[in-house]
Amino acid sequence: SAHYTMGGIWSRNDTSTDIANVFACGECAHNGVHGANRLGGNSLLEAAYFGKVAGTEAAKAAKKGVFHPIDYAQVAQELRYVDSIIEGESRFNINTMRRNLGNNLYKNAGVFRTHDSLANALEYVHYLMKMSSGLCCVNKERTDNVELMSIIEFRNALTVAEAMLMSALAREESRGVHYRDDFPQHDGKNYEVNTIIRRLAATFLRITFEGHLSSDWWHRIRKFFHAQ
Ligand SMILES: Cc1cc2nc3c(=O)[nH]c(=O)nc-3n(C[C@H](O)[C@H](O)[C@H](O)COP(=O)(O)OP(=O)(O)OC[C@H]3O[C@@H](n4cnc5c(N)ncnc54)[C@H](O)[C@@H]3O)c2cc1C
Repeated sequence: SAHYTMGGIWSRNDTSTDIANVFACGECAHNGVHGANRLGGNSLLEAAYFGKVAGTEAAKAAKKGVFHPIDYAQVAQELRYVDSIIEGESRFNINTMRRNLGNNLYKNAGVFRTHDSLANALEYVHYLMKMSSGLCCVNKERTDNVELMSIIEFRNALTVAEAMLMSALAREESRGVHYRDDFPQHDGKNYEVNTIIRRLAATFLRITFEGHLSSDWWHRIRKFFHAQ
């Protein structure tokens, strides 16, 4: 019953992103083909089509052989992050927290939402973010540690949840599967734009409206069929 974020890593038609040599396709990507409502069955088609494009483009980039130098400070930072999760004292149960996050989003940020329900959900996500620092491994093994992977995934899920909720709060209109009970009308004048979220610092996301939806694939396809 879960629906999609209807967004993801911003990517161009050739699946390239703002980070050189990173190509995004499928569930993690936003390439504009679905508009504001992804129809059943279209996701696998998208994953297959853009997966092929991404594979081809990645191979081309690899052949060029222009790679970034390794940023060892970043590597050290990631190692410290993983160490802190393995070595820290576990105070909370990952399964309970993950279930609570799911229930919270299901109840407050489903297709039908209001400012209050979204603000409540965001407050709860911020609470979980604070609590998640006490989420460490009971199993201290350093190889094949599924618990470690679950904790990292959960922390990333909180970031995605925060971005989703901020976008939904900022879009004061109804469109596709984003139905605001407090703003039931479609507002083509102010919101015919993409919502872009950038992470400027570990705890700071910036939200902007950019571009025009008419430049998206879906709008181009719709325009094509309308013209026939
Ligand atoms: C319940 C449900 C029903 C669905 N029904 C349909 C349907 O009927 N028709 C349809 O078209 N679509 C359907 N979808 C959507 C469709 O399944 C997905 O959009 C599609 O599978 C996405 O494919 P993907 O390859 O982009 O992502 P995924 O299938 O999520 O693959 C991502 C892969 O990356 C791996 N991974 C993650 N992090 C890392 C990492 N750090 N390092 C290495 N690997 C990593 C994961 O383990 C995973 O194998 C459904 C989805 C769900 C959840």
